[in-house]
Amino acid sequence: MSKKKYPVGYKFNKLTILEYMGSMDKDKNKHCFYKCQCECGKIIYIRTQQINVQKSCGCYTKLQQN
Ligand SMILES: [Zn+2]
Repeated sequence: MSKKKYPVGYKFNKLTILEYMGSMDKDKNKHCFYKCQCECGKIIYIRTQQINVQKSCGCYTKLQQN
């Protein structure tokens, strides 16, 4: 049983949760995923464990390196 931990609209760093996806068939570890939108507009799928940990879709890290 997977449990929904974060509500739609939940914001952390540059990401906002759009939808709870549950576990994906192709993921053999059965992690639960959230569909999130970055401030830059890009849609990404991240695991529950990455909520509050992941800063952005990747654009933020790139900005810091420049
Ligand atoms: Zn981004």
